[in-house]
Amino acid sequence: MGLPQRFESERVMIIKKEYKFYAAHRNAQLSDKCRNLHGHRYGIVVHFEVERDGALSTLFGDFDAKIEPHLKEHYDHGLMIDVNDPLFPYLQRYVEETGDALRFNKFDVPTTVENLAYKLFCEFTEFGFRIERVEVRETDTSVISYTREDWIADSRRAATLAEAPTRIESL
Ligand SMILES: [Zn+2]
Repeated sequence: MGLPQRFESERVMIIKKEYKFYAAHRNAQLSDKCRNLHGHRYGIVVHFEVERDGALSTLFGDFDAKIEPHLKEHYDHGLMIDVNDPLFPYLQRYVEETGDALRFNKFDVPTTVENLAYKLFCEFTEFGFRIERVEVRETDTSVISYTREDWIADSRRAATLAEAPTRIESL
């Protein structure tokens, strides 16, 4: 008995790993309290899609070896900021003039939880992982679940936007 060979070789499993970091941000487009600079303890659950071979303990180590230093270096205790936020040029000038190397994590869109999920999905995929889903918890009561389908749709949209100026110039 047992599964046909075709299925045996294609078996994949999902491994979930949790990470966290502390970061500041704001949403300049809102007029409520979120407009203020404030911080969150972000909880990230990454659902990795892996082939069912090899030792799981090795895989866990592989994920952490790439993702933990990345979050620590680029996100933790930093300010996630939209470069289109009118505050950004002031902060950048402060850093240039004083040499006070504040940690900025630049977005070219508002620093919403959905945009953060997209950015993390792109970065983790660049490490060579196949991601099935990323969950981002911004507060105790709200978690978003961002799927591979969401990422594919958003990547297409981002690519179309990136191409737009080229098309206009060539007219
Ligand atoms: Zn917030």
